[in-house]
Amino acid sequence: MVQIYFLGTGGIMPNRERNVPSIAVRYGGEILLFDAGEGTIRQMNVAKLSPMKIDKIFITHFHGDHYLGLGGLLQTMNLWNRKKPLHIYGPEHTFEFVQNFINSGFFGPAFDIYVHELGEARLKFDGYEIWSFRVKHGIPALGYVFKEEDRRGKFLPEKLKVYGLEPGPLLGKLEREGQIELNGRIIRLEDVTGPRRRGVKLVYTGDTAPCKRVALFSEKADLLIHDATYLTPEDRGESYHSTVEEACEVAKRAKVKLLALFHRAFRYSYGEYLSKATELCDVDFIVPKDFDLLTVESDHWELRNVLEGAL
Ligand SMILES: [Zn+2]
Repeated sequence: MVQIYFLGTGGIMPNRERNVPSIAVRYGGEILLFDAGEGTIRQMNVAKLSPMKIDKIFITHFHGDHYLGLGGLLQTMNLWNRKKPLHIYGPEHTFEFVQNFINSGFFGPAFDIYVHELGEARLKFDGYEIWSFRVKHGIPALGYVFKEEDRRGKFLPEKLKVYGLEPGPLLGKLEREGQIELNGRIIRLEDVTGPRRRGVKLVYTGDTAPCKRVALFSEKADLLIHDATYLTPEDRGESYHSTVEEACEVAKRAKVKLLALFHRAFRYSYGEYLSKATELCDVDFIVPKDFDLLTVESDHWELRNVLEGAL
């Protein structure tokens, strides 16, 4: 199960209704942060997410609405006595921009910060991988894939019966070692389990104009969070962003299960944007609001707002 907290869903500048981009992905005991727009620390506090649980921050690109919250996050971590290292990932120039934050004000972090400048990369962590890929935004900019490891299929009771296996240490050994010998017979894990379960796949494009690489990296994703800043090409003009229709096209081409239309321009009200998107989109989609929590498993998803009933 992967939980996605939409901390800021609007584009370009914050307004009364929504903050600028930041997405927290909770997996296991860890929080992965994708982008850190201005005020991210405030959004995390409201959502009751501890910044101390973040070990990795992934920045898509260095336009202010996607990274200006980094300074506040780093200083808060310091204030709260953080000792464990923090890893910050991003495109070219990430080192330079993080260094600028560290050198601003009377601030010196008491914890190690490791900066990783990425091109297209595949990073392996415990239980999941992060892939980065290039998008089209006029400056160095990356999209990211979170891919949970595939898991073994479930034990099949009828097969266990055939082989005379019961829950207990022997089954544990079979799971650990992949095969065991019982009464002179070799039993392999795949003899008694169903098909492998596909790990959850999430994709976040950051800001991008329509881009073939997004479709390529999003293939059969459970969730694609796509730049959908504008409702019409006229509104978009020459900027390197996507329209709702273009985001839907990519989702359809890549056969993604659910599309999240993200980074909507502050000029559109939620109602106006949603009704236009409903007209234009023929794939399953959501228009996330700030503090929406999306829970994604390989066979279903669920959306609720963490502020509901809280105020
Ligand atoms: Zn941008």
